[in-house]
Amino acid sequence: EAKRNGRNRYEYFTLEMDVQARTRRCMENDLREAITENQMRLYYQPITNSDQQAIIGYEALMRWHHPSKGLIMPGDFIPLAEETGLIHSLGAWALYEACREAKNWAGGQAVSVNLSPIQFKNSALVSVVEDALRGSGLEPWRLEVEITESVLLDDTLGNIHILQSLKALGVLIALDDFGTGYSSLSYLRSFPFDKIKIDRSFINDMSDSREALAIIRAITGMSRSLDIQITAEGVENREQFDKLKEEGCTLFQGYFFGRPQPSELRLTML
Ligand code: C2E
Ligand code: MG
Ligand code: MG
Ligand code: MG
Repeated sequence: EAKRNGRNRYEYFTLEMDVQARTRRCMENDLREAITENQMRLYYQPITNSDQQAIIGYEALMRWHHPSKGLIMPGDFIPLAEETGLIHSLGAWALYEACREAKNWAGGQAVSVNLSPIQFKNSALVSVVEDALRGSGLEPWRLEVEITESVLLDDTLGNIHILQSLKALGVLIALDDFGTGYSSLSYLRSFPFDKIKIDRSFINDMSDSREALAIIRAITGMSRSLDIQITAEGVENREQFDKLKEEGCTLFQGYFFGRPQPSELRLTML
């Protein structure tokens, strides 16, 4: 009896794994066609300065308008794109599209584009960025790329050198999701970042966690001496905004100001 149960369980798992593998292959095939079928969109979320007077830029966030599944969020397709290498073409598309759209913004605001650590494995990354700037005519200082700490964790591929080349183009470099993962303040010495974005988990926990607030303080304190701008991510209410201003954050992003929207619907004034 025990043996039979064991076997059934085994069969159940293999069947489930098979379904998962097929779903994945299906998604992968769909994703392969998503760009050429014009299903990818960039949504833009405003980033404001501390006066709350002006939107100084937008973060470009990818959305997949799947023909039968509807709107798919990046958390549900970026990992697959990274595993399959499709992130290289998706990432290049995002850079071109963001630069092209930003070039048309009357306010001349900046645009931030997320780069996956996998994109650093392509030696052509710098020329992809260069082509996006040249093709769109966007001024390099209006483009910012967001990377995560994992890019700095292993420098065997010369990621720091790639970052230096990007900076040499005039592009700004931001360290995203700071405080998560292997986070170490010593990373900030390995490259002269223009901005640090504090991960939204700290902003979310700030009001009832002394640890979260202590980390925010450590980051803002250090940024003052290093002369780096700090962006607070995931600001959802006035209370958080006021507190973060008090702690020395200079840039803000979150639902309190505006949600990500297509370029033509994006918030242009607060
Ligand atoms: P991220 O770069 O940290 O982007 C910020 C995420 O926080 C976005 O989620 C945004 O919609 C969400 N967010 C902003 N304000 C708030 C808030 O007040 N409350 C809450 N709860 N959430 C807020 P989204 O658009 O789902 O993107 C998730 C992640 O997917 C991004 O995190 C980024 O790592 C990745 N991603 C998005 N677009 C791209 C892309 O074009 N390329 C790459 N490589 N990754 C991307
Ligand atoms: Mg980001
Ligand atoms: Mg991120
Ligand atoms: Mg982030």
